[in-house]
Formats: sequence, structure tokens, C-alpha cells
Amino acid sequence: MIINATHILTMDKEARILSPGHIIIENDEIKEIGKGKMDTPEAIDFSGKLLMPGLVNAHTHTPMILTRGMCEGVSLFTMDGFLNTLRRYESYGDADLSDLTIDASLAEMIRTGTTTFADQYFYADRIFNHTDKSGLRGVIAYGIVELGSEEARKRETRFCEEFLEKCQQHPVIKGWVGPHAFFVDNSLELIKQEIAMAKKYDTGFHIHFATSNEENDWGREHYNSTAVKMMKELGILEVPILAAHAITVSEDDMEAVKDYPFYPVMCPSSSMRSGFPTAPVKAYRDHGINVALGTDNVCSSNSYDMFREMATAGKLIIHREGDVKAITPFDLVQMATMGGAKALGLEEKVGSLEKGKKADIIALDLDDIGWTPFAGQDFYTQLVYSISGHTVSDSMVNGKWLMRDKKLLTVDYRKAVEDNETAVKELIKRMEKDE
Ligand SMILES: [Zn+2]
Repeated sequence: MIINATHILTMDKEARILSPGHIIIENDEIKEIGKGKMDTPEAIDFSGKLLMPGLVNAHTHTPMILTRGMCEGVSLFTMDGFLNTLRRYESYGDADLSDLTIDASLAEMIRTGTTTFADQYFYADRIFNHTDKSGLRGVIAYGIVELGSEEARKRETRFCEEFLEKCQQHPVIKGWVGPHAFFVDNSLELIKQEIAMAKKYDTGFHIHFATSNEENDWGREHYNSTAVKMMKELGILEVPILAAHAITVSEDDMEAVKDYPFYPVMCPSSSMRSGFPTAPVKAYRDHGINVALGTDNVCSSNSYDMFREMATAGKLIIHREGDVKAITPFDLVQMATMGGAKALGLEEKVGSLEKGKKADIIALDLDDIGWTPFAGQDFYTQLVYSISGHTVSDSMVNGKWLMRDKKLLTVDYRKAVEDNETAVKELIKRMEKDE
């Protein structure tokens, strides 16, 4: 397959922009990428389009689209807010209800330019099945909440291992271990088993970390050290860690983790809507720590649009630092592409458009509203601060089209919406019956 395009933003080491450019794709891989158009009738003509690497949403919980907009007016980052809304809803949900919700999430991600997502929730098997059909690249963590129950520990470690086994041979889905939050709801004994499991399957931990000072308080009480230093001592840091939020990590602790595979994921909308600060991204970056970007669940953030998330991240970092140079539009696109790929251990495969990498590509319609002027400003600024994910017109993962001309090819969106509505109505019915 040959694609000619007006512009190709590569995000490679030289940050090349090819205007015009072409890509040759063979099977699932980029065989060639270069300047100029290929003069052959079989080439797909993407005149008036910009190609770039698909975006990486590094922290989501897809089934939670079930309760989008239903937890308004509370902070989901507080135990009270969480228990009185989300947790209560979840107690009436089950795998079958979740099953009806996942496609709506996947459709929104494809439509707005995400090609890789890192999910963490219960019902990993159901998420696996829908992701498999959608063609999206998924890093699916088997969510584990133990809360001191020995029975839960035995059951969850067994199921998690079965899940990791099942993901082994999949071309675009990778299984991870998803302790909901270390020390908070995963005991030390469980953590040791989780480390062994992650090492055995050469995978990582997708956790919520340092959202508030809870882990630090626990660490000081039990180990007389911060959460990060405790994790170092327990050997947890030897396993790649995707640390969602990672807000309350001090600069001293950043020094301690900078040589480990510890990757904070900034989820700005989710944090801000809960009235919390976000990850100190500038400090992390100053310490040489790779930061990824995520939307978190859309009950907290309400949107999967990673273009909007880049804009929110940029404004927030600049506002926090009081410095317009604290982060550039290029840095933000980097966070949402290579930054995410590196955090998920996929930097050899995705995150940039380069020869030998997997063909995970999106196209944006340059005739769409919001771009002008093209002269006098760069694409990164336009991508981050002017346009939205709805400008994305085409999406490809592993050499396979998931969307052409804004039409989803692998997910039936009307059906996905219908199913999600059915699930919400059923949830409300169950709750009312109980009252
Ligand atoms: Zn989360």
C-alpha cells in the first residue's frame, strides 16, 4: 500500500516533516517513508491531509463510559466522592453490563485519533474481546482490588495469570498487571505475587499512584520512608510502572526513580474536574523522566479526545509554572505519541512514523475548520491548541484501516450507542429496585 500525503509529521528523532511525502506499507509495517509523492496510479491520494503517528492514550478505563456524566458535583479523587457515586454504581454493574459499554469507548478513541490505549479495569476478558474486534492496539491491565481478602487474592492472581497467558500471542494486544493502587487496596503479600507474575510474562504494572498522599502516609507509618523509596526497597521498581496521576511525588523521589522504568501519566482533565492538582510534569521532565498523557475514565474527564487533552495539559503546565516556555506544543505531541509508546514498552513499534515500525497512522483533514493560517505558525501549535480530534479523518493500526473519511470500519457506532444506553437504563433500574 502506498499513501501520498500533503504533509507527514513523523515525530522521528529529527522530527522531520515531509511536505509532501509518501509512505509505503507492507503488511503491518512501514517499509519506506520519504519526501515527495510516488508517481503511481495505485497510490492512495491524501492530498489535503496531514499524516501523523496515532495517539497513545496511556490511562483509561473503557467500561466506565457507562456512568459518564453521572458523578457530577463530586470529586472522584476523594474516598467520599468515589464511594458515594462510582463505587455505588459499580456495585450494581457486572461483566454483562460492561460488555455493552466498551464499543462506545473504542469508537470514540478511533474517531478522535487514538490508535493505542492502556486500559485498567475489571472484566479484562471482555475488554480484550472488543479490542480484538476493533483492531485498536490495546495494553490491557487486569485490574486487581484485594482489600485484605485472602479469597480475592487467590482468585485474582489466578485469573490475572490466565489473562496474561491468553494475551501472549496476540499481534496488537498486550496484557499487563493492574493493581488498582499499591498499599491502598493491594497488600504486600499480593504485591510480591504480582511482581513475580509481571516478571514471568515480561510485562508491567498499570497502577494509580500518588493521587493524594495516601501511599506516602502508609510508607511513613510502616517503613519510615516515602512510597517511592519503599517501592524501590521492595523490588517493585524493577518492573515497568505506568503510574497514573503521580501527583504527590517529590523532587527527591524523582531522583530515586529516574533510572527505573517508572512512567507517570498526566491526566489533566480528570485531575482538574476533581479539584486536584496534576502531575508536576516540568519537574519530571527536568529529571529526565518520560511522561505520558491519558484521559483517565470518561466519568472523570468526560472525553476521549486526546487533542483536547494535549491542549488542557499544555495550558495547565504553563499556568502552574507561570512560564510560557514550561512546555512547548511539540513536547505535548511528543507526550501523546512517543512518550506514551515508551511508557508502554512499545517505543520500537509505535509512536513515530519510521521505517520498520508498525503502521499505526492517523490522517487529519486540512480542509476542516480551525487550522488557518498555515503560513506563519507550525503544525504542533495548530494540533495542540486549535483543532480537535474530530479533525481526524482516517485511522490505521498495524497496517489495517479502522476508519476512512470519518467512517468507522470496525465498530458499529449506532449499535454501540444503543448498547450503552441499554446498559445505563438497566443500571438505573437495578438501583431503583433496590431503593
Ligand atoms: Zn484512573
